[in-house]
Amino acid sequence: MKELSTRQGDIFSAGAQRLQMTESIELTVQSLQAYGADHDHWGIAWSGGKDSSATLTLVIWLIDTGRIKPPKTLTVFYADTRQELLPLASAASKIMDELEERGIRVEVVMAPMDKRFMVYILGRGVPPPNNNTLRWCTRQIKIDPMTQALEKRLADLDGNVLMITGVRQGESAIRDKRIEMSCGKDGAECGQGWYQKILPEAKGLKGRLATLAPLLHWRVCHVWEWLKHWAPLVEFGDWSTATIADAYGGDEAEEINARTGCTACPLASEDKALDTILLNPAWAYLAPLKRIRAVWRELREPQHRLRKAGIERLKDGSIAANPQRMGPILLESRLMALERLLGIQAEINEAAKRLGRPLVDMINAEEEARIRELIAAETWPDGWDGDEPVATTPLDKVYADGSVQPLLFPEVAHG
Ligand code: SF4
Repeated sequence: MKELSTRQGDIFSAGAQRLQMTESIELTVQSLQAYGADHDHWGIAWSGGKDSSATLTLVIWLIDTGRIKPPKTLTVFYADTRQELLPLASAASKIMDELEERGIRVEVVMAPMDKRFMVYILGRGVPPPNNNTLRWCTRQIKIDPMTQALEKRLADLDGNVLMITGVRQGESAIRDKRIEMSCGKDGAECGQGWYQKILPEAKGLKGRLATLAPLLHWRVCHVWEWLKHWAPLVEFGDWSTATIADAYGGDEAEEINARTGCTACPLASEDKALDTILLNPAWAYLAPLKRIRAVWRELREPQHRLRKAGIERLKDGSIAANPQRMGPILLESRLMALERLLGIQAEINEAAKRLGRPLVDMINAEEEARIRELIAAETWPDGWDGDEPVATTPLDKVYADGSVQPLLFPEVAHG
């Protein structure tokens, strides 16, 4: 009896889920019909994460099956940060093949060499982002390259472009009209909120770009359901999306509200996605990636950084709000971090070759050469010239109003 009621429960909940999926898809169709028709050209901002991959494959399936009217042109912009988790990067490359087989234009969008995450930190010496600083990474490896790619595309097109993003807020979308910018909230995908809000305002795009988030109302369980069970079926497009759901724990994924972003994102409090990936024996060889976070943590410590010594005057003559702030990473510390990261990469790739598995590509030969070149040229971020003291050096205390309290026992401090 108990068994029967459990089975019925399963069937009912599966049925309810199916109904909700159908309703969710129906709302997506309505939003695309309502806003899509006004735009001849559509773009899709895709990062390979769960939300934007679900958006991409669903929109194309809806077009292919005649459920929505196709635009005159459709361009998929794949944001390659060079920091993607390997299973997601592998799935993205298969999906790119599938898009090209359909004759869909895909543009790979990547930051220029000196702006890439690894090169900017290790070559230029900018500390890894944390929750207290401006998230330079999202702007630099996602937003700015996307803005430039769109500007270029717009130059070839007449009229405006509708940029479709994977922003998703689940049920709160209905009551809360605000787009959440933080990538940590509700498992949202890093960057999508920024595409949604910042791109239309960007210089060069203003007035020519509108954004639409057709999966705004989707719950995370629907995203997993689509990626794992629907999209891989021939009748829904035969997409290689199951790997994305598998990366987060396969059938268990429905329980996991994991955010997607860079490998070892220094802003995430835990490596939920990576931890789940490592539970899969096929990806267990990626375990050394867990050591990356310790490198980022260490680089933020004072013994690896410079500090502004005295009163720092800004261009307008005012005193900087944060005197004696810690700044960039020392040259030797950058070399230490580079060696450790290359060591992690080599260790994984040795195992990958032995097991016949995909290789990681964290820092390629060109990036390594550029990092070494920038370090050798003693490159510092703007406003720093490298002769500031190391941040552990005891200094007279400077307050925000410019007053100074000298060290009480300078001979002890300096001796
Ligand atoms: S996932 Fe993390 S490291 Fe990557 S862009 Fe977003 S905040 Fe920056």
